[in-house]
Formats: sequence, C-alpha cells, structure tokens
Amino acid sequence: MSTYDVAIIGSGPGGYVAAIRCAQLGMKTALIEKYNTLGGTCLNVGCIPSKALLDSSHHYEDALKHFEAHGIEIPGEIKLNFKKMIERKQSVVDQTTKGIEFLMNKNKVDVFTGTGSFKDATHIEIDGEKKETIEAKNTIIATGSKPASLPFIKIDKERIITSTEALELTEIPKHLIVIGGGVIGLELGQVYRRLGAEVSVVEYMDRIIPTMDSAQSKELTKVMKKQGVKFYVSHKVSAVSRKKNEVTVTATDKKDKEVSFTGDYCLVSVGRRPFTDGLKAENAGVKINERGMVEVNEHLQTNVKNIYAIGDVVRGAMLAHKAEEEGVFVAEIIAGQKPHIDYNLIPGVVYTWPEVASVGKTEEQLAEAGVAYKVGQFPMRALGRSRASGDTDGFVKILAHKETDEVLGVHMVGARVADLISEAVAAMEFRASAEDIARMSHAHPTYAEAVKEAALAATEDRALHV
Ligand code: FAD
Ligand code: NAD
Repeated sequence: MSTYDVAIIGSGPGGYVAAIRCAQLGMKTALIEKYNTLGGTCLNVGCIPSKALLDSSHHYEDALKHFEAHGIEIPGEIKLNFKKMIERKQSVVDQTTKGIEFLMNKNKVDVFTGTGSFKDATHIEIDGEKKETIEAKNTIIATGSKPASLPFIKIDKERIITSTEALELTEIPKHLIVIGGGVIGLELGQVYRRLGAEVSVVEYMDRIIPTMDSAQSKELTKVMKKQGVKFYVSHKVSAVSRKKNEVTVTATDKKDKEVSFTGDYCLVSVGRRPFTDGLKAENAGVKINERGMVEVNEHLQTNVKNIYAIGDVVRGAMLAHKAEEEGVFVAEIIAGQKPHIDYNLIPGVVYTWPEVASVGKTEEQLAEAGVAYKVGQFPMRALGRSRASGDTDGFVKILAHKETDEVLGVHMVGARVADLISEAVAAMEFRASAEDIARMSHAHPTYAEAVKEAALAATEDRALHV
C-alpha cells in the first residue's frame, strides 16, 4: 500500500492547487478525482466553459449590433453556427483540463481516477477501474458542490436544467425562463439572450445579484433590460411543470398574485450545495453540518486533526479563487507555516457585459454596521477610453471611512472591471486610503482611470473629469 504525506480528494481549483502547493513544499502528494478529467466544476462545467460562451456570444452580438457603428459592414447575413460555438467551448475546456494533467506530472503528484472514500481517518479507498487503498498522513477534502434546486422542482436535464446542461444545449431556446437572478442566471441568461432567445429572469428577492451593492443591481438591471432581458423580481416560484417541450413556471408576485411563465427551457440557478456524497466521511468521524458542509475551524481543519477541507464544500463564497487560496493555505498549514486569508478581500465578479466586480463592504453593510463612510463615484461614460470603445455603461464606486479615509469597499460595473478590481484588492490589502489611490498615476486612456477618479471623488469631491 502506498503512503502519502497528503491525499487530496477532488481536483477542482481547491484540490489541484492544494496538490501543487503540497508538492512544492516537498510533500508526497496524491490527488483523487472521480471523473476522467481534472479541474472540477470550474474547469469542466463552470468558470471556463461559461466564459467561453460569454466571449463567443459577445463577439456575435458585436457583429450583429455594434460593428456598424465602427464603420464595419458585413455583406450578407451574419449566421450563427451554434454547434461550432459549443464545440469551441469544449476545446477550450479540453485544453484547460489537459493543462492540469501537465501540472500534476510536472509537480510529481500521483493522480488516481476513481471515487475516494474514507476507510478510516488515515486510509482512503479509491473506487475506479481498479479498487485500491492508500494511506494518507493528512487528507484534504475538496469535493466541491453541485447545483441546488427547490423541493418541488424535478430537474429532468432536458428542459428543466441546471448550468451543466445549459452549457451543452443543442439548440437555442425560444424562451428561456431563469429561476434565480444570481451569477449563473445572469451570465447564462445573457449568453442565450445574445444568441436570440427571449429570456425571463424570475428572482425571489427584490433585486438581482442581491448580495452585491444595490447600485450594481440597479445598473445591471437597467443595462440588461436594454439588452432585452425581462426581470421579475420579488417573485416566489411555487411550481415548475413540463408538458412535452413546454415548461411552465408558476410564481407569486409581491402582491401575492399568481403569475405563470411559459417557455421551452427553464434554467434553475438558485445556488449550489456542498457535495460529500460517497465520501463516507462518517468512517473517519468527520463532522458534516445540517447544511451538508464539512465543518472546519480557522485553520480549515475538521474535527479530525489530520483531515482538512477547502473550497465549495466548506463555509464562505463558492468561488474558484477562494478555493485556490484555501488550497494554498492548508498546504502551508500542514507544512507548519502560518498563512493568512483575508476573506473580506476576496473579490466577487459577474462576467456579464458590462462586467460587475466588488470587494470589501457594500454600502448596505456599512450602513447596517453603523460605520461612518463617504462615497466617491465616477461614471464610465466620462472616460475617453469608454467613448473610444463604445462601452459607456457603468461606474466605479469607492466607499471610504469618513474620518480615516481608509477604503472599505469598491464596487464597479463596466467594461473590464473584472480586471480592474485587482487594483482595489491590492489597495485594500495594504490598507490604502482613497487619497492614496487618487495620488497614483493611472495610464491614459484606460478604464482604470475611473478608479482614480472615484478615489478623487471620495477624497474631497475632487473628480477631475465630471
Ligand atoms: P469543484 O470545482 O466542485 O471540484 C470538486 C471535485 O471533486 C469535482 O471534480 C468532483 O468530481 C470531485 N469529487 C467529489 N467527490 C469526490 C470523491 N468522493 N472522490 C473523488 N472525487 C470527488 N467561480 C469563480 O470564481 N469564477 C467564475 O467565473 C465561476 N463561474 C462558474 C460558472 C458556473 C456555471 C458554475 C457552476 C460555477 C462557477 N464558479 C465560478 C464557481 C466555481 O466553479 C467553484 O467555486 C469552484 O469550482 C469550487 O472549487 P472546488 O475545488 O471547491 O470544487
Ligand atoms: P447565487 O447564489 O449567485 O444566486 C441564486 C439566486 O437565486 C439568488 O439571487 C437568490 O435570491 C435566488 N433564489 C433563491 N431561491 C429562489 C426561489 N425560490 N425563487 C427565485 N429565486 C430564488 O447562485 P447561482 O447563480 O446558482 O450560482 C451558484 C454559485 O456558483 C454561486 O455561489 C456563485 O458564487 C458561483 N458562481 C460564480 C460565478 C462567478 O464568479 N462569476 C459564476 C457562476 C457561479
């Protein structure tokens, strides 16, 4: 039987990054994945394929609607080859997952294909093409998450679907009904809207992306409405049924009136749940709470001292980069180091166009906590760069402490803000004031100038270009 310093169950961004860091730190490392491809949800059916479709559909929409304004005329009809678009997405996924295989080889991580389950706290059985057992001094549970649903919905994976099927459709829906105006609903809703579907988003809360700053919800709602997406907020879905190719979603609105939506596909995107099926955590004595999460302490250690858990299967944001940080963190803890993660500074991004990006506290959170704050906001339309590209929607909003000027939260909507948010993260990691950002030179013309201008606005209402 082989013995490892660390065995990692699950090869998503949490698991594979933990494996690389463990190997870098000189530990003999095993990575166990039940599927034939590495990379987990993110690389196979999450971040990467959804971004490939967002990028492809964005090009299509530009060709259809925006090229003309730039003086580009395409003679004849612009045709969509949806099959090819889906095939391209798959080739991006394939290249990316192959890249993880390369990284495992390079770092001399032993990869086992099969379902990993605990025999006891130091032995893991792997049920793959053959059955084998390995010994592990330490184990990291990185088994991720699966789509959540509502108790009355039967996901049939054909017409009533989750994000996994939505990335694999063979036709463009005529009318896609999206339950849940969160990240998945908006990203994939926008993909199919661009490709010609009617898209209706039914959201339980009174606004879309309800955990982000309300100014972002408002702006994204406005822009996506212009793009033709229909929003039904404050709607509680009560039933979903299917008759042949027709799907009906029934909901009650805020006046308690029953409304129904009929379409040909329904995307259920109401969140994800931690996944531990088949892990037999009980054999090792690992505690799983009533919400299905593996319980961990501040060192991401479970109640069993040599077993850790990271990523979507533990508390906190279900984000790939959060899982990655935790993978590195646990590897370093096992190696006896003293790493640190500031969970307040894990950015959140929605990859619609315009993009939406946030870090730190929202205005609602600061108000609720009774923190004295000031706001500096700058519209993208006032930037030369935005006018040059034609991407004038959105803003950058900086929230800073009223007395100390420390940046407490940065919230953006606009072109490339998924990339711009890194400046805010760096600034906040170093506990910068709004004035610190305002005094930094930002290249002209860039979208990043909106960050400087918002910081100037927060400092002394000193924005230069509004
Ligand atoms: P996962 O990636 O879920 O990986 C867990 C792995 O464990 C899986 O491969 C699974 O097969 C394996 N496994 C489970 N049980 C066992 C077992 N017993 N034995 C062996 N293997 C097992 N996040 C972002 O930050 N940015 C994005 O743009 C983004 N886009 C997304 C788009 C979609 C459509 C979806 C669904 C998610 C998206 N996410 C995004 C979220 C992101 O995918 C997750 O937060 C991330 O994958 C979590 O990583 P993880 O390592 O914890 O788990
Ligand atoms: P989410 O939590 O982002 O959104 C779910 C939405 O569904 C919420 O707005 C919620 O209010 C709504 N909802 C819940 N119950 C409802 C009901 N009964 N009727 C109507 N609406 C209801 O979840 P998601 O969009 O499914 O995404 C799952 C996870 O995947 C998220 O945690 C997210 O972080 C991650 N993800 C991230 C990205 C990204 O980083 N760009 C992209 C996709 C997914």
